[in-house]
Amino acid sequence: MKVCHQIVEIKEIISRDKRQGFSIGFVPTMGYLHEGHLSLVRESLQTTAKTVVSIFVNPTQFGPQEDYQDYPRDLSRDTARLEEMGVDYVFAPSPNEMYPPGFKTYVEVTQLQDKLCGRSRPGHFRGVCTIVLKLFNIIQPDWAFFGQKDAQQAIIIQKMIKDLNLETKIKVLPIVRDQDGLALSSRNTYLSPEQRQAALVLYQSLQLAQLLFEEGERRTSTIKQAMINRIQQEPLAKIDYVEIVEMENLDEISLITDKALVALAVFIGRVRLIDNVILAEKGKKE
Ligand code: AMP
Repeated sequence: MKVCHQIVEIKEIISRDKRQGFSIGFVPTMGYLHEGHLSLVRESLQTTAKTVVSIFVNPTQFGPQEDYQDYPRDLSRDTARLEEMGVDYVFAPSPNEMYPPGFKTYVEVTQLQDKLCGRSRPGHFRGVCTIVLKLFNIIQPDWAFFGQKDAQQAIIIQKMIKDLNLETKIKVLPIVRDQDGLALSSRNTYLSPEQRQAALVLYQSLQLAQLLFEEGERRTSTIKQAMINRIQQEPLAKIDYVEIVEMENLDEISLITDKALVALAVFIGRVRLIDNVILAEKGKKE
């Protein structure tokens, strides 16, 4: 496995592979890898001839008061795991390599970027789209792999691909959870044991939504209120948002007709966690 830190280096390797007819799979990450990331890597290894994983904590997607400095990093552990799995290349650039002095260009997917997480994290999706487009241009992947854990991100990236006529195809893979239901996240390492326990309320409230839906409830106000009540029973939890939205434009809906995204963000102490579930009539999940 080759680890590249420079754009010219990875570009050269990939253009050589492409000339030889190899298909390229790409998994963008911010590192501190867990099973959620690794599920994307496995899918890439099975889908394409070569797999590139990027590890880059992208400064432009963090707000000024957010955890950019504290975000967990462990490049040597990450590269060891990726090498074991049979990944071909890791691209781990420095911030200066991606954003040299004088950098001025940003990509925005308007409207979608302002909903859900965009409301409490202004500028976040602008940073995400900018880095993803840069990485796509550098790596030119045939396939790129994203997690349903970041549902809004996956929807926005797909919109960017469509609107900007990019060639890369996307696969969105299911949320990987711990045995007790907590969605895996690099940020879970911030949680104390007590907070880790309290964090289960995210998944529990989503399960409650699923249950109500299965029992026939279609009014989102009823489902949302039940979720909010459940979360408010947990003293360490503070709701950022709980929303039930249409899957394409992320608009709130009042009645679920065939399919909806239930998404939430909850602070556990100072740690902001997100999770989601898709509610769909049988046979309408895809
Ligand atoms: P991150 O390193 O947090 O930027 O995540 C990199 C990719 O891994 C994104 O596409 C995430 O959606 C995905 N991912 C993160 N956590 C999970 C998870 N628990 N299950 C599935 N995919 C995940």
